[in-house]
Amino acid sequence: TTAADRTVAPTAAGTPAPAPLPVRPRTAVLGRGEVPWDFPVVTADDAGLGRGDGCFETLRVLGGPRGPRLLQLEAHLARFARSAAALDLPVPDPGLWLALVQPLLAEVGEGQEATLRMLLTRGTPTGGPTGVVTLREVPEVTRRAREDGISVVTLDRGVVPDAYTSAPWLLGGTKTLSYVLNMAALREAARRGADDVLFRTGDGEVLEGPTSTLVWSADGELLTTPTDRGGILAGTTLQAAFDGARAAGRRTAVRRTDVGELGRADGVWFLSSVRGAVEVTSIDAHRLFRDPATTRDLRSWIEA
Ligand code: PLP
Repeated sequence: TTAADRTVAPTAAGTPAPAPLPVRPRTAVLGRGEVPWDFPVVTADDAGLGRGDGCFETLRVLGGPRGPRLLQLEAHLARFARSAAALDLPVPDPGLWLALVQPLLAEVGEGQEATLRMLLTRGTPTGGPTGVVTLREVPEVTRRAREDGISVVTLDRGVVPDAYTSAPWLLGGTKTLSYVLNMAALREAARRGADDVLFRTGDGEVLEGPTSTLVWSADGELLTTPTDRGGILAGTTLQAAFDGARAAGRRTAVRRTDVGELGRADGVWFLSSVRGAVEVTSIDAHRLFRDPATTRDLRSWIEA
């Protein structure tokens, strides 16, 4: 029996959330503070602009009764520091960056949410590194993915999984600004009529999405792929979800897998900071089982 032969469960979302209030976009520059949204934050010779030479983090801001919260803040700051170190950039001072971020958060009221981005570029030979923070609305496509789930196609990452160890200059697992390949893969998915991409090796080992961590469930266990190969980024959302899962008594594991196993899984998800956990509804047009109860659990662990 294949998943396509069986009944596919309704979406996890239940009734759609009410339309959120708009969030005004805001931005701030390290060493300067908040500037108007359309302020020219880099000069033409900035290495971030010309070479994508830098690193970044994207966080989710949730407005609550006790004010806005940045989800997984510590994990994001730690990864930002690791990325900067991998690029031989000065390691970001958390105090300075948080002082830059804090005033922008006032924009996010109770019941609202936003995307916060921290960008660090190599900057210019004379001016040194550039640091920028932006606060923006969560895009409509993200809300839709949370409600409807996403279809994915597998695409070859085109790099043998061990190359990231033997050639560390490939910067596997580093969140660099050079997402041009990831964006090209997403456009290829759109051309093929899918919402997202699951990168795989030439041998069919699956890795991660261009902006997400892969999670699947089998026999009650939640699983993900190892970050020591294939250039997989260590996800902050995954960390929160698996910490929550284990605290709730759910088994978790890290291991390699392939498309065939995912096709038989009890549920498959993409995890990332802004979308949270979204259900993968099909892989290469093969419909998957859906597990709305686990989707709700994953979201509650991520947002805890
Ligand atoms: N993998 C890649 C390549 C990513 O770009 C991202 C997030 O942007 C993730 C995984 C998920 O990471 P996180 O949960 O920290 O957002």
